[in-house]
Amino acid sequence: MAALQDDHDRTMAYAEVALSQIKNLRHGAVPRNYEIWYVYATGYNPELNKAINDTLAERGSLTDADLDQLHDSYLSHGRTTDRIDRIGARVASEIDDIMALLAETLGSTASFGDDLRGESQKLSLATDHDQIKAIVERLVATTRDMQQANSALEERLSTSKQEIANLQVSLDAIRAESLTDPLTGLGNRKHFDRAVHEAIRTASTSQQPLSLLMMDIDHFKSFNDTYGHLTGDQVLRLVGLTLKQSIKGQDITARYGGEEFAVVLPNTPLRQAIIVADNIRRLVMSKELKKKSTGEILGRVTLSAGVSTLKPHDDAEALIERADSCLYAAKRNGRNRVICESDPEFSCVTQAAVA
Ligand code: GH3
Ligand code: MG
Ligand code: MG
Repeated sequence: MAALQDDHDRTMAYAEVALSQIKNLRHGAVPRNYEIWYVYATGYNPELNKAINDTLAERGSLTDADLDQLHDSYLSHGRTTDRIDRIGARVASEIDDIMALLAETLGSTASFGDDLRGESQKLSLATDHDQIKAIVERLVATTRDMQQANSALEERLSTSKQEIANLQVSLDAIRAESLTDPLTGLGNRKHFDRAVHEAIRTASTSQQPLSLLMMDIDHFKSFNDTYGHLTGDQVLRLVGLTLKQSIKGQDITARYGGEEFAVVLPNTPLRQAIIVADNIRRLVMSKELKKKSTGEILGRVTLSAGVSTLKPHDDAEALIERADSCLYAAKRNGRNRVICESDPEFSCVTQAAVA
């Protein structure tokens, strides 16, 4: 009951921040703007907050077009393919406009050439000063027209270049978003799948070791049941942050599923991977969880980890399967521990599975 009351208080506080931003910045009180400012207030989407803060710092306000773009890039729940289609349509229409303009300019360049030739013929036949003056005046006028057409083309091309650069940013944002877990900001399952396949290819060609950690928060269901789902989400975010802080260089970390995380460790032998896993385990356990709104101490969470390392002829499935079995062994052997594939507890699991 207390957990539900806290969730309610927190969401009301976010709603108040959102409404006051809409009021202060004189934005329309429409659902799109409310969503933008609500998510901003929660801080769950750091990229959105950064984009808003950067624009406000630069220009002091957000236009309707900015809000459209922010919603499109960071919040649109439309299917990614729909959004890509929309961007594709904008690129196509941009290209159509430019092609039409180029055709027009090519036409006027050709007629400019004809005019020059015509006038130069007349010039060779001209006999008096007035004729020459009239020819020169026509040449100056045609050249001025040509110059104007050229600068209009230049201006349009430069607007187009900017528009295409903006579309490129939107496409990059969609791509990054499609590989990111929105709750923790870590890579999502799709990102993990790609990363692990890529890492195996690289390790096999370079003959370097490669290890994999699979981790799962212990007794997380009862944590959620006790403190509420929103508080559970904060803990997932904290674990995500701890993972980000614990890895470096080419290591890749991802949210594999609900409260499961994976870390791909290229160029890392088993022994070193166990150390990384144990550091993460200890770091997560060392954090005393406190509810921001009330200051209530919630205790700690722990996690269990399984570690596997690439063997010759392994594919991604085999590597993941062994790390997962080690994780299962860690759970069976009391949780809050790291088990690797050379530990006796792991062989017990595999033997049991075979039996
Ligand atoms: P074990 O130690 O064996 O892993 O126990 P567990 O309770 O962690 O495992 P179980 O698989 O029974 O429950 C996982 C729970 O994780 C269920 C659900 O409440 C929670 N969970 C999964 N995804 C999310 C999420 O996105 N947010 C929150 N708050 N909880 C989640
Ligand atoms: Mg689980
Ligand atoms: Mg669990």
